[in-house]
Amino acid sequence: MQRKNLFLIAVFLFTSLLFAYFDTTYATTTEPFVFAFTEVPTTLKATKEYRFTTNAPANSVVTYSVSNEKYATITPDGLLKGKQVGNITVTATCEGQTISCNIKITGKKTIYIDPGHQRYADLTSEPIGPGSSTRKEKMTGGATGVSTGIPEYKFTLTISKKLKTALEKKGYGVILSRTKHNVKMGNVARAKKGNKSGADICIRIHADSFSNSSAKGATVLYASSSNPYYAGKYSKKSKKLGKKLLTEYYKATGISSRGLAVRNDLTGTNWSKMPTVLIECGFFSNPAEDRKLNNTSFQKKMVKGLTNGIDAYFGYK
Ligand SMILES: [Zn+2]
Repeated sequence: MQRKNLFLIAVFLFTSLLFAYFDTTYATTTEPFVFAFTEVPTTLKATKEYRFTTNAPANSVVTYSVSNEKYATITPDGLLKGKQVGNITVTATCEGQTISCNIKITGKKTIYIDPGHQRYADLTSEPIGPGSSTRKEKMTGGATGVSTGIPEYKFTLTISKKLKTALEKKGYGVILSRTKHNVKMGNVARAKKGNKSGADICIRIHADSFSNSSAKGATVLYASSSNPYYAGKYSKKSKKLGKKLLTEYYKATGISSRGLAVRNDLTGTNWSKMPTVLIECGFFSNPAEDRKLNNTSFQKKMVKGLTNGIDAYFGYK
Protein backbone atom coordinates (compact mmCIF):
# COMPACT_ATOMS: atom_id res chain seq x y z
CA MET A 1 0.00 0.00 0.00
CA GLN A 2 2.74 2.44 0.85
CA ARG A 3 4.41 1.97 -2.53
CA LYS A 4 1.12 2.58 -4.28
CA ASN A 5 0.66 5.82 -2.33
CA LEU A 6 4.11 6.98 -3.25
CA PHE A 7 3.39 6.20 -6.87
CA LEU A 8 0.15 8.22 -6.76
CA ILE A 9 1.92 11.16 -5.15
CA ALA A 10 4.57 11.02 -7.87
CA VAL A 11 1.94 10.97 -10.60
CA PHE A 12 0.17 13.91 -8.97
CA LEU A 13 3.37 15.97 -8.73
CA PHE A 14 4.36 15.22 -12.32
CA THR A 15 0.92 16.19 -13.61
CA SER A 16 0.95 19.41 -11.60
CA LEU A 17 4.33 20.37 -13.01
CA LEU A 18 3.13 19.58 -16.51
CA PHE A 19 0.11 21.85 -16.09
CA ALA A 20 2.25 24.59 -14.57
CA TYR A 21 4.59 24.37 -17.56
CA PHE A 22 1.83 24.61 -20.15
CA ASP A 23 0.18 27.36 -18.18
CA THR A 24 3.33 29.48 -18.35
CA THR A 25 3.85 28.77 -22.05
CA TYR A 26 0.25 29.60 -22.75
CA ALA A 27 0.50 32.88 -20.81
CA THR A 28 3.62 33.95 -22.79
CA THR A 29 2.14 33.33 -26.21
CA THR A 30 -1.01 35.26 -25.50
CA GLU A 31 0.68 38.45 -24.22
CA PRO A 32 0.11 41.38 -26.66
CA PHE A 33 3.14 41.80 -28.95
CA VAL A 34 5.74 44.39 -27.99
CA PHE A 35 6.50 46.42 -31.10
CA ALA A 36 10.24 46.62 -31.84
CA PHE A 37 12.73 47.24 -34.63
CA THR A 38 14.39 44.09 -35.93
CA GLU A 39 17.71 45.89 -36.16
CA VAL A 40 18.84 49.49 -35.78
CA PRO A 41 21.90 51.19 -37.28
CA THR A 42 23.67 53.82 -35.16
CA THR A 43 25.09 55.67 -38.17
CA LEU A 44 24.26 56.06 -41.83
CA LYS A 45 26.35 57.82 -44.47
CA ALA A 46 24.76 60.70 -46.36
CA THR A 47 23.33 59.51 -49.73
CA LYS A 48 23.16 55.90 -48.47
CA GLU A 49 19.89 54.05 -47.75
CA TYR A 50 18.69 51.78 -44.97
CA ARG A 51 15.54 49.65 -44.99
CA PHE A 52 13.86 49.43 -41.58
CA THR A 53 12.10 46.23 -40.50
CA THR A 54 10.11 45.45 -37.36
CA ASN A 55 8.47 42.51 -35.62
CA ALA A 56 4.97 43.77 -36.53
CA PRO A 57 2.54 41.05 -37.69
CA ALA A 58 2.35 40.76 -41.47
CA ASN A 59 -1.19 42.13 -41.72
CA SER A 60 -0.57 45.23 -39.57
CA VAL A 61 0.33 48.70 -40.83
CA VAL A 62 3.61 50.33 -39.79
CA THR A 63 4.29 53.98 -40.57
CA TYR A 64 7.62 55.76 -40.32
CA SER A 65 8.72 59.35 -39.88
CA VAL A 66 11.97 61.21 -39.30
CA SER A 67 12.60 64.12 -36.90
CA ASN A 68 14.43 66.44 -39.30
CA GLU A 69 14.15 66.12 -43.09
CA LYS A 70 17.15 68.37 -43.59
CA TYR A 71 19.39 65.47 -42.58
CA ALA A 72 17.48 62.43 -43.85
CA THR A 73 14.20 61.38 -45.41
CA ILE A 74 12.16 58.24 -44.86
CA THR A 75 9.38 56.75 -46.97
CA PRO A 76 6.14 55.82 -45.15
CA ASP A 77 7.19 52.17 -45.45
CA GLY A 78 10.61 52.64 -43.86
CA LEU A 79 13.31 53.35 -46.46
CA LEU A 80 15.68 55.84 -44.81
CA LYS A 81 17.99 57.96 -46.97
CA GLY A 82 20.83 60.06 -45.49
CA LYS A 83 21.07 63.61 -46.84
CA GLN A 84 23.56 65.56 -44.78
CA VAL A 85 25.53 65.37 -41.56
CA GLY A 86 23.34 65.63 -38.45
CA ASN A 87 21.45 63.69 -35.79
CA ILE A 88 17.97 62.34 -36.44
CA THR A 89 15.31 60.29 -34.68
CA VAL A 90 13.37 57.70 -36.64
CA THR A 91 9.89 56.94 -35.32
CA ALA A 92 7.72 53.97 -36.25
CA THR A 93 4.09 53.46 -35.27
CA CYS A 94 2.05 50.27 -35.33
CA GLU A 95 -1.39 49.66 -33.80
CA GLY A 96 -1.03 52.44 -31.27
CA GLN A 97 2.53 51.57 -30.30
CA THR A 98 5.31 54.01 -31.11
CA ILE A 99 9.01 53.24 -31.05
CA SER A 100 12.00 55.37 -32.02
CA CYS A 101 15.76 55.29 -32.39
CA ASN A 102 18.54 57.86 -32.83
CA ILE A 103 20.82 57.77 -35.86
CA LYS A 104 23.82 59.89 -36.76
CA ILE A 105 24.06 60.80 -40.44
CA THR A 106 27.76 60.94 -41.33
CA GLY A 107 29.47 62.52 -44.35
CA LYS A 108 29.78 60.59 -47.60
CA LYS A 109 33.39 61.85 -47.53
CA THR A 110 35.08 64.20 -45.09
CA ILE A 111 36.86 67.35 -46.22
CA TYR A 112 39.36 69.19 -44.07
CA ILE A 113 39.55 72.87 -45.00
CA ASP A 114 42.36 75.07 -43.76
CA PRO A 115 41.61 78.80 -44.10
CA GLY A 116 45.11 80.25 -44.48
CA HIS A 117 46.61 82.64 -41.91
CA GLN A 118 45.10 84.23 -38.79
CA ARG A 119 44.70 87.68 -37.26
CA TYR A 120 48.26 87.81 -35.89
CA ALA A 121 51.30 86.27 -37.57
CA ASP A 122 53.44 83.92 -35.48
CA LEU A 123 57.01 84.25 -36.64
CA THR A 124 58.47 81.68 -34.26
CA SER A 125 59.65 78.63 -36.17
CA GLU A 126 58.76 74.96 -36.54
CA PRO A 127 60.13 72.08 -38.70
CA ILE A 128 58.78 72.09 -42.26
CA GLY A 129 58.23 68.34 -42.07
CA PRO A 130 58.39 65.52 -39.51
CA GLY A 131 62.04 65.08 -38.50
CA SER A 132 63.24 67.99 -40.62
CA SER A 133 66.03 70.31 -39.48
CA THR A 134 64.73 72.99 -41.86
CA ARG A 135 62.42 75.37 -40.07
CA LYS A 136 59.98 78.07 -41.16
CA GLU A 137 57.69 80.58 -39.47
CA LYS A 138 54.66 78.97 -37.85
CA MET A 139 52.28 81.41 -39.54
CA THR A 140 53.08 84.29 -41.85
CA GLY A 141 50.94 87.41 -42.06
CA GLY A 142 49.42 86.86 -45.49
CA ALA A 143 48.48 89.31 -48.23
CA THR A 144 46.19 92.33 -48.14
CA GLY A 145 43.80 93.19 -50.97
CA VAL A 146 45.43 96.05 -52.86
CA SER A 147 42.03 97.51 -53.76
CA THR A 148 39.69 96.31 -50.99
CA GLY A 149 42.18 96.42 -48.11
CA ILE A 150 40.79 93.09 -46.93
CA PRO A 151 43.40 90.90 -45.23
CA GLU A 152 43.92 87.37 -46.56
CA TYR A 153 42.97 85.75 -43.23
CA LYS A 154 39.46 87.25 -43.45
CA PHE A 155 39.02 86.27 -47.08
CA THR A 156 40.15 82.68 -46.52
CA LEU A 157 37.76 82.16 -43.61
CA THR A 158 34.85 83.70 -45.54
CA ILE A 159 35.38 81.33 -48.47
CA SER A 160 36.03 78.34 -46.22
CA LYS A 161 32.80 78.84 -44.29
CA LYS A 162 30.79 79.21 -47.49
CA LEU A 163 32.49 76.15 -48.95
CA LYS A 164 31.66 74.20 -45.79
CA THR A 165 27.96 75.03 -46.09
CA ALA A 166 27.88 74.12 -49.79
CA LEU A 167 29.68 70.82 -49.23
CA GLU A 168 27.46 69.88 -46.30
CA LYS A 169 24.40 70.37 -48.47
CA LYS A 170 25.90 67.78 -50.81
CA GLY A 171 26.37 65.28 -48.00
CA TYR A 172 30.04 65.85 -47.19
CA GLY A 173 31.37 66.07 -43.67
CA VAL A 174 33.48 69.22 -43.28
CA ILE A 175 35.97 70.24 -40.63
CA LEU A 176 37.67 73.64 -40.56
CA SER A 177 41.12 74.13 -39.03
CA ARG A 178 39.86 77.42 -37.58
CA THR A 179 36.46 79.09 -37.34
CA LYS A 180 37.58 82.50 -36.06
CA HIS A 181 40.33 84.99 -36.84
CA ASN A 182 41.95 85.32 -33.46
CA VAL A 183 43.64 81.94 -33.12
CA LYS A 184 47.23 80.90 -32.59
CA MET A 185 47.62 77.91 -34.86
CA GLY A 186 50.84 77.17 -36.69
CA ASN A 187 50.91 75.08 -39.83
CA VAL A 188 52.00 71.92 -37.97
CA ALA A 189 49.09 72.28 -35.54
CA ARG A 190 46.69 72.74 -38.45
CA ALA A 191 47.96 69.64 -40.25
CA LYS A 192 47.81 67.58 -37.06
CA LYS A 193 44.22 68.65 -36.45
CA GLY A 194 43.40 67.48 -39.96
CA ASN A 195 45.16 64.14 -39.41
CA LYS A 196 43.08 63.55 -36.28
CA SER A 197 39.83 64.49 -38.01
CA GLY A 198 39.69 61.37 -40.17
CA ALA A 199 39.22 63.52 -43.27
CA ASP A 200 39.73 62.10 -46.77
CA ILE A 201 41.34 65.19 -48.30
CA CYS A 202 42.72 68.54 -47.17
CA ILE A 203 42.24 71.81 -49.02
CA ARG A 204 44.21 74.86 -47.93
CA ILE A 205 42.67 78.16 -49.00
CA HIS A 206 44.92 81.15 -49.80
CA ALA A 207 45.20 84.22 -52.01
CA ASP A 208 48.29 85.12 -53.99
CA SER A 209 50.38 88.28 -54.11
CA PHE A 210 53.12 89.54 -56.42
CA SER A 211 55.13 92.69 -57.01
CA ASN A 212 53.66 93.08 -60.50
CA SER A 213 50.01 94.04 -60.12
CA SER A 214 49.04 92.56 -63.49
CA ALA A 215 49.74 88.98 -62.31
CA LYS A 216 46.46 87.07 -62.11
CA GLY A 217 44.93 83.61 -61.99
CA ALA A 218 44.70 80.62 -59.69
CA THR A 219 47.47 78.18 -58.78
CA VAL A 220 47.45 74.87 -56.92
CA LEU A 221 50.51 73.93 -54.90
CA TYR A 222 51.15 70.28 -54.07
CA ALA A 223 54.08 68.11 -52.99
CA SER A 224 56.03 65.89 -55.40
CA SER A 225 56.34 62.12 -55.02
CA SER A 226 59.97 62.61 -53.98
CA ASN A 227 58.84 64.68 -50.99
CA PRO A 228 60.42 62.89 -47.98
CA TYR A 229 57.56 63.68 -45.59
CA TYR A 230 54.00 62.34 -45.46
CA ALA A 231 53.08 64.48 -48.46
CA GLY A 232 55.21 62.44 -50.89
CA LYS A 233 53.01 59.40 -50.40
CA TYR A 234 49.92 61.39 -51.39
CA SER A 235 51.49 63.29 -54.29
CA LYS A 236 49.61 61.51 -57.09
CA LYS A 237 46.20 61.94 -55.47
CA SER A 238 46.97 65.52 -54.51
CA LYS A 239 47.88 66.28 -58.11
CA LYS A 240 44.62 64.76 -59.32
CA LEU A 241 42.67 66.81 -56.78
CA GLY A 242 44.51 69.97 -57.82
CA LYS A 243 43.78 69.40 -61.50
CA LYS A 244 40.07 68.87 -60.87
CA LEU A 245 39.89 71.96 -58.68
CA LEU A 246 41.59 74.22 -61.22
CA THR A 247 39.43 72.96 -64.08
CA GLU A 248 36.14 73.41 -62.24
CA TYR A 249 37.23 76.66 -60.61
CA TYR A 250 37.96 78.17 -64.02
CA LYS A 251 34.65 76.89 -65.43
CA ALA A 252 32.67 78.49 -62.62
CA THR A 253 34.59 81.76 -62.15
CA GLY A 254 36.47 82.48 -65.37
CA ILE A 255 39.63 82.93 -63.28
CA SER A 256 42.33 81.41 -65.43
CA SER A 257 44.50 78.59 -64.21
CA ARG A 258 48.22 79.18 -63.80
CA GLY A 259 48.51 75.44 -63.35
CA LEU A 260 49.91 73.15 -60.72
CA ALA A 261 53.18 73.92 -58.99
CA VAL A 262 55.31 71.50 -57.00
CA ARG A 263 56.27 72.79 -53.57
CA ASN A 264 58.05 70.62 -51.04
CA ASP A 265 58.65 73.34 -48.46
CA LEU A 266 55.06 73.85 -47.30
CA THR A 267 54.81 72.88 -43.64
CA GLY A 268 51.04 72.49 -43.60
CA THR A 269 51.20 70.13 -46.58
CA ASN A 270 54.27 68.15 -45.47
CA TRP A 271 52.74 67.16 -42.13
CA SER A 272 49.39 66.19 -43.64
CA LYS A 273 48.60 62.47 -43.89
CA MET A 274 46.09 62.72 -46.74
CA PRO A 275 45.87 64.13 -50.28
CA THR A 276 46.51 67.83 -49.75
CA VAL A 277 46.49 70.88 -51.97
CA LEU A 278 46.94 74.58 -51.38
CA ILE A 279 44.90 76.71 -53.74
CA GLU A 280 45.83 80.30 -54.38
CA CYS A 281 42.39 81.53 -55.46
CA GLY A 282 43.70 84.58 -57.30
CA PHE A 283 45.90 87.64 -56.75
CA PHE A 284 45.24 90.14 -53.95
CA SER A 285 47.94 92.29 -55.58
CA ASN A 286 45.81 92.65 -58.73
CA PRO A 287 43.13 95.33 -58.10
CA ALA A 288 40.49 93.79 -60.37
CA GLU A 289 41.04 90.27 -59.09
CA ASP A 290 41.07 91.46 -55.48
CA ARG A 291 37.65 93.07 -55.99
CA LYS A 292 36.30 89.91 -57.61
CA LEU A 293 37.58 87.59 -54.91
CA ASN A 294 36.02 89.72 -52.20
CA ASN A 295 32.67 90.19 -53.94
CA THR A 296 29.81 88.24 -52.36
CA SER A 297 28.12 87.14 -55.59
CA PHE A 298 31.46 86.23 -57.17
CA GLN A 299 32.26 84.12 -54.11
CA LYS A 300 29.23 81.96 -54.90
CA LYS A 301 30.88 81.11 -58.21
CA MET A 302 34.16 80.33 -56.48
CA VAL A 303 32.44 78.01 -54.03
CA LYS A 304 30.57 76.32 -56.85
CA GLY A 305 33.84 75.73 -58.72
CA LEU A 306 35.60 74.31 -55.67
CA THR A 307 32.62 72.09 -54.79
CA ASN A 308 32.44 70.77 -58.36
CA GLY A 309 36.18 70.11 -58.29
CA ILE A 310 35.82 68.04 -55.11
CA ASP A 311 32.85 66.17 -56.63
CA ALA A 312 34.94 65.47 -59.73
CA TYR A 313 37.87 64.20 -57.66
CA PHE A 314 35.67 61.67 -55.85
CA GLY A 315 33.84 60.70 -59.06
CA TYR A 316 30.47 62.13 -58.02
CA LYS A 317 30.35 64.28 -61.09
ZN1 LIG B 1 48.52 82.89 -47.99
